[in-house]
Amino acid sequence: MTTPALADLDGVEGARVLTRLDLNVPIDDGRVQDDTRIVAAIPTLNWLGERASVIAACSHLGKAKGSPDPAYSLAPVAPVLAEALGRPVRFVDDCLDPGIADAEPGTLLLLENLRFYPGEKANDEAFAARLTASFSHYVNDAFGTAHRDHASVSAAPRRFGRGKKAAGFLMAAEVSALSRLVRDPEQPFVAVVGGAKISTKTAPLEALLDRVRTLLIGGGMANTFLKALGHEIGRSLVEDEMLSTARDVMDTAADRSIDVLIPTDVVVTDAIDAPSIVEVVAADAIPPDLMVVDLGPESHQRFAAAIGGARTVFWNGPMGVFEIEAFSRGTMAIATAMADCPGFTVVGGGESVLAIRRAGVVDRIDHVSTGGGASLAFLTGDELPALAALEE
Ligand code: ADP
Ligand code: MG
Repeated sequence: MTTPALADLDGVEGARVLTRLDLNVPIDDGRVQDDTRIVAAIPTLNWLGERASVIAACSHLGKAKGSPDPAYSLAPVAPVLAEALGRPVRFVDDCLDPGIADAEPGTLLLLENLRFYPGEKANDEAFAARLTASFSHYVNDAFGTAHRDHASVSAAPRRFGRGKKAAGFLMAAEVSALSRLVRDPEQPFVAVVGGAKISTKTAPLEALLDRVRTLLIGGGMANTFLKALGHEIGRSLVEDEMLSTARDVMDTAADRSIDVLIPTDVVVTDAIDAPSIVEVVAADAIPPDLMVVDLGPESHQRFAAAIGGARTVFWNGPMGVFEIEAFSRGTMAIATAMADCPGFTVVGGGESVLAIRRAGVVDRIDHVSTGGGASLAFLTGDELPALAALEE
């Protein structure tokens, strides 16, 4: 099944198009703090702008609970979007406002937060019917919500036939890059998995075992692997209920001759926020009163060497508490190794993307996925409701 692209749209000239974007940007005191997602939406809006008559952009923002909440209004996004596009943007303070039907040709509307209605999260048919009522075409460019069965990405596109709905440029780029990791990835395929916990990533971890040659485990979740191997891990973050999962991953990998690299040396500290002790110890000699917060230098060199020899690499989850400079070396070393790798490189995940930005290597990564949960669901092989609805 292929996801329809913008070029597959029929009769988009002069059409009225509803576009679902990911404008879920951080807002503080009524001001947009980071315009990355707004800027990322521009290519699709420009393409539509050259063809369509009326464009309405819709999105969710923050944790709105099904009723209007000024803290989560999309209003502050409108001027930033207008500036980035170089054309006026009219903000509509209710995504179901009947006046939307009367918008003049040439208008670009930004609709208020979809999650001000409970129907959005409930994937409610009636809400989707009202949302789409005055549009002939639908475009989804919000990959970050593609794994959610919500009305604007699921019930809404189902109301449009073939040729009347498509993925925008961002969504298409995500699908094409992530597909290279799922369908016949070029070998050797190395996956680097870290971050805080195994419990949030069990399914993708198991799915990766169907495809990778080498698995590198770092971050907080590596502690659970170290404990499963019988090592003392002191006061480190650990998930005791995941010890058997860690053992299963190692057993499956052994059965399939997949190399699993676990840290052999680690950085330990006494207190993350106010450390007085920061030292490198062997992974089998972690002092009981300290905690693991980063890979040691031998480990990040081994990990970097594995990445250097890969034809395909996927990385999700920082290798340590990289937010703190003293514990960021492992994560920065992996970011650099990804950037230097001649193979096809993909990074996904909220904190992981922050880490490669901090390392200054975003431009040297082949694909930076904007959707943490959505990219993991795609890798797991789950059907993404938003893609299924576009392909129907
Ligand atoms: P992502 O958002 O990239 O998917 P996660 O949300 O799973 O990543 O995890 C990111 C967090 O994991 C970071 O905030 C980091 O501080 C934390 N982390 C990484 N290693 C450790 C560790 N050893 N101990 C505690 N927290 C850790
Ligand atoms: Mg995260």
